[in-house]
This record gives sequence, structure tokens and C-alpha cells, in this order.
Amino acid sequence: MPERYDLHCHSTASDGSLSPTELVHRAHQHGVTALALTDHDTIAGLAEAQTCATATDVKLIPGIELSTLWQNQCFHIVGIGINPLHPPLVEATQNLQNTRIERAEKIADKLAKKRIPGAMEAVKNAAGEGMITRSHFADFLVSQHHVNTQQEAFDRYLAKGKPAYVATPWAELALAISWIIESGGVAILAHPLRYKLTSNAMRRLLDAFKNAGGQGIEVVTGRINKDEIIRAAALATRFELAGSAGSDFHCPDQWVELGRLAPLPTHLKPVWELLN
Ligand code: AMP
Ligand code: MN
Ligand code: MN
Ligand code: MN
Repeated sequence: MPERYDLHCHSTASDGSLSPTELVHRAHQHGVTALALTDHDTIAGLAEAQTCATATDVKLIPGIELSTLWQNQCFHIVGIGINPLHPPLVEATQNLQNTRIERAEKIADKLAKKRIPGAMEAVKNAAGEGMITRSHFADFLVSQHHVNTQQEAFDRYLAKGKPAYVATPWAELALAISWIIESGGVAILAHPLRYKLTSNAMRRLLDAFKNAGGQGIEVVTGRINKDEIIRAAALATRFELAGSAGSDFHCPDQWVELGRLAPLPTHLKPVWELLN
């Protein structure tokens, strides 16, 4: 039987709703045989996920989704096959946790100025030991009936240009890629079509990404249609990048299901062939 890969998903270590154990079980139930857990800026869920993966005979690929900056815009880089014990990566994630706490305090202050108090306490409780993300703020805004949906929370408060947006000093793209590569991993540009770049900006981004050692690009991701797969595959071909496939699963029912992915176009080199 060929492996069934899902190389992008989230647990309660960041903004997913399932614990690493629940996530691996659900992946197994949905026929995934090789799963990369890629929480935002943290490796904290990997040990628990590995324990469950061993018990269920799922192959766990250690991963992370790093928030990075290139020309002052945020880009997500998925790293797979990383060594979660690599000291610079461990240190980077510890710093990123502080960055996220500081950002959260600023977001909460901005919401308080909009007469929405109590956000910091709520997101801290919701995130627990995990990374605080804007999704936690979105859930808080929904729970307090300021908005009806997560999407509306981003559109009205949290997205760039909205009243509670805070610019965040993420690591530069090349530095973040170096943490992945030096820990033995493969760097993949996540959901390339979500950034709404012109073709010229995309070319410059992918040149910088490749110069820094990036090797893969997500071609099949959650919530993508056939036309978008063709466009992302064309980027992979043009820039000689391996193609990746990951659901970006966050929670049951509201997101694309684990492993429920269109096949990677057969003319692309699959990124999993680059794993050791
Ligand atoms: P953060 O890394 O804290 O900025 O949070 C980013 C996360 O928020 C993403 O991974 C998504 O899960 C979620 N997110 C970002 N933008 C939106 C949006 N426009 N609508 C809904 N969720 C979003
Ligand atoms: Mn997320
Ligand atoms: Mn992302
Ligand atoms: Mn993601």
C-alpha cells in the first residue's frame, strides 16, 4: 500500500482544537499513514503525537509552521523532518512564545480601547500551555457576541489594517529557513496562493526562498480548488520546487478533514522524497 500523506495540521499546541493524541487518532481513522504535525511556531506537541503515532502505527513526521517576514509581509514556512531537539530551533520557539505573548497583550489592549475588555485572560485560558494565536482572539470575539464567525473577527478586528491588528517582529524568512534546514528538515512555502502576490512579487519571493535553501511548495492544501492546484503546480514546475500536500486541518467540521486531499499532480516531485 502506498503511504497517504498529510503534511500540514494543527493541535492544541497552537490553534488546533484536538490534542496531539486526538489528532493522530483522527488522522489514522481517516486513512492517513504519514502525518506531519506542524503547529504555529512550536514543537511542543510532537512528543505526545509521537507516542500516539507509535501506538496506532501512523508514521509521524516532526514538523512546524514558522511565521516569518519577507519585505515586511508575513509568510508561513512549513518545516518537515526537523529534529525537535536541535538547540537553535528550540531556542527560536522559546523566543517566539514570548513574541506571541507580547503581541497578544498589545492586541488585548487595542480591543480594550474598543470597549472589549478581558481578552488577554480569555486567550491565555484558551491556549493553556500552547501558543496564543489570533484564532484564540477570534474565538473570544465570537464567544462574547461581538462577531458571529471567526472570519468576521478577522475581517472586523484582527486582520492587517483592522483596529486590533499588531505588526509582529517575526524572524526573517532566511533565518527561519536556516533553523529548519540545520535541524535536518525540509522547508516548504505554505499555502502560496493565500498571500495574493503579483506574479512579479511571487517570483522575487520564491527566488529569496530558494536562495535561503527552501525546497518545497504546498500545491494541494485545504480549501483549494482544481484551478488553484494547477496554478500552484505551475509555480512548483517553474521554480523547480517539490510539491507538498497538507490539509492545514485545525478542527473537525469547520475545516478540511485530515487526509482529505486531492492527489499531488503526478508530474511534480513529491516533497516526501526529500525526507531522510
Ligand atoms: P497568527 O499566527 O496568530 O497570526 O494566527 C494565524 C492563524 O489565524 C492562521 O493560521 C489561521 O488559522 C487564522 N487566520 C488567519 N487569517 C484568517 C482569516 N482571515 N480568517 C480566519 N482565520 C484566519
Ligand atoms: Mn492556524
Ligand atoms: Mn498558515
Ligand atoms: Mn497552518
